[in-house]
Amino acid sequence: MELTRTILLKLQPTEEQAAILERTMDANRRALDYASQVAFERRIRSAFQLHRAVYRTLRLEFGLRSQMACTVCRTVAATHKSMKSNGNPGAQARFKHPKPVFQWNNYVLRGGLLHISTLGGRLRIPYHVQPPYVRYLHDGWTFGAAELVKKRNGWFLHVSVSKTVPEPSQDFDAVIGVDQGMRFLVTASSGRKVLFIRGGRVKQTRLRYIRLRQQLQRKGTRSAKRRLAAIGRRESRFMTDTNHKIARQVIRFAQAQGKRPLIVLEDLTSTNLSVRFRLKERYWRMSWAFRQLAEFIRCKAEEAEIAVVFVDPAGTSETCPRCGHCESTNRSQKHHRFRCKECGYQCNGDLAASRVIAQRGAEALRQSRSA
Ligand SMILES: [Zn+2]
Repeated sequence: MELTRTILLKLQPTEEQAAILERTMDANRRALDYASQVAFERRIRSAFQLHRAVYRTLRLEFGLRSQMACTVCRTVAATHKSMKSNGNPGAQARFKHPKPVFQWNNYVLRGGLLHISTLGGRLRIPYHVQPPYVRYLHDGWTFGAAELVKKRNGWFLHVSVSKTVPEPSQDFDAVIGVDQGMRFLVTASSGRKVLFIRGGRVKQTRLRYIRLRQQLQRKGTRSAKRRLAAIGRRESRFMTDTNHKIARQVIRFAQAQGKRPLIVLEDLTSTNLSVRFRLKERYWRMSWAFRQLAEFIRCKAEEAEIAVVFVDPAGTSETCPRCGHCESTNRSQKHHRFRCKECGYQCNGDLAASRVIAQRGAEALRQSRSA
């Protein structure tokens, strides 16, 4: 199984280096526009022919390095091709904020520095890697293409890395159902053990952000709007950080339950989350955080060679894990309890849901095997 990830390096260029990066960015954009115009006017379809038509100009007049000139030709040809298949063949491709692409060797990471080939020669730029990405710098990941990106808060390199890992074993010795919610961000159970991750701290922090936002919204000045945007970014960084930590906890829990565990998650992409979580509007705004957490768990599980399966979330919190009876009044929202109207089975509501999720995962696998 081939895994692909994108990692972010925050670059710390000197002023002089930043100016060179800026020039490189600009030359790349102009080169794309030029190549696009030539392709359009001469009706050139293939990257190979476009290369013959513009390569020298890209090198001599725009000053591009060889590899970047090749990428420009490929990008223009591919863009025209996709425009054609999207039913827009008569137009010329425009590139508003293109990101220069570097292949490995045109950039390398060595001795804590990024060595990168630019218009101004090879630069050596210090960089910073956020903790969740550090593991990709070792552990046998292969570096692929990288994009240079300029954001409001500086320069970044988005690096694509890949690694081939064995398929996870299909012979499970533990099935872990993961329920996501507000009171407990995660309830994971294996049938024998349970992991509860409380949502209290996250809730408090979010409430603080909500209050801050409300104050600023009332003000409505321009500086208040700027601060609002900054707060939104800080809030999403906080949530992303928290989700990384929770995902790691879930993986560790799964690994402690068996040598070949299976993690079962609810497929939240297809459902209306506001129904699933009965969220108030302010929580609905955070629905991305639930999906992000599921995605983080999936990614980290893949890297740890743990199998993951997604199941239909419909009615998981109202179904009895013992007898399978499904009724909305089985679950008391107020007391977070589950009590089966049919067989009388009782337990914590989130725990019941996580057991049902685990059962659905095991069932889905049985069906896929017998098919
Ligand atoms: Zn029951």
